[in-house]
Amino acid sequence: MRKKVIAGNWKMNKVLSEANEFVEEVKSKVPTSDRVEAIVCAPFPFLPSLVEKTQGSSVKVAAQNMHFEDNGAFTGEVSPVMLKDLGVTHVVLGHSERRELFAETDETVNKKAHAAFNHGLTPIVCVGETLEQREANETKQLVEQQVKKALEGLSDEQVANTIIAYEPIWAIGTGKTASSEDANEVCAHVRTVVKEITSADTADQVIIQYGGSVKPANVDELLAQSDIDGALVGGASLEADSFLQLVEAGT
Ligand code: 13P
Repeated sequence: MRKKVIAGNWKMNKVLSEANEFVEEVKSKVPTSDRVEAIVCAPFPFLPSLVEKTQGSSVKVAAQNMHFEDNGAFTGEVSPVMLKDLGVTHVVLGHSERRELFAETDETVNKKAHAAFNHGLTPIVCVGETLEQREANETKQLVEQQVKKALEGLSDEQVANTIIAYEPIWAIGTGKTASSEDANEVCAHVRTVVKEITSADTADQVIIQYGGSVKPANVDELLAQSDIDGALVGGASLEADSFLQLVEAGT
């Protein structure tokens, strides 16, 4: 049985005091369970404080991006070495907003995935299609290409430990969720692709999340699907109550 992984992606929201209040509120309420993992994906300036405040709790802390180099002349960037040193455990890679607005490509996502594993960080690799691509019936082909490129050169063990988040771009922040059947169909396809490039065992282990307007009202139905192992949640992860309800749904 794969565990469920609920990751709240705060994006560029909150100030430090609000971030601290959030984890103070949720850390004792997130269940310690093998069945569910709760992750908060926070802006860089909050990471040291959140890591400190969540010590000894079941809440994990993720960054929302990083560079693939260890250090050097990359003004404004943050390296995997820095994240690891802070005690961050996960890092979101290739979110559609980074692909669209900050020129992230499958190639950079792949370099970052390698860098994450080289430094003991778990990557949450995001893939997903635009509305145009969905309407042109290109979803599976596009997602397949994104998954293959992102995971290129990783060992089977590394792939098994990657979290893949399928986030249809048209469902992000729009209130439109993919139907649970449609979301599951693409997640199942992602698993088939992972099986093709690795093994049946690896495909069986890899965590595949759905993301895009997930909220307490629709999370149960999504998580009940055969190939959806969790959720990457934006808007509904900003309030502690709502985040806790999502985590609870995973137990
Ligand atoms: P929403 O849950 O706000 O649609 O955002 C989804 C997302 O992009 C999470 O990474």
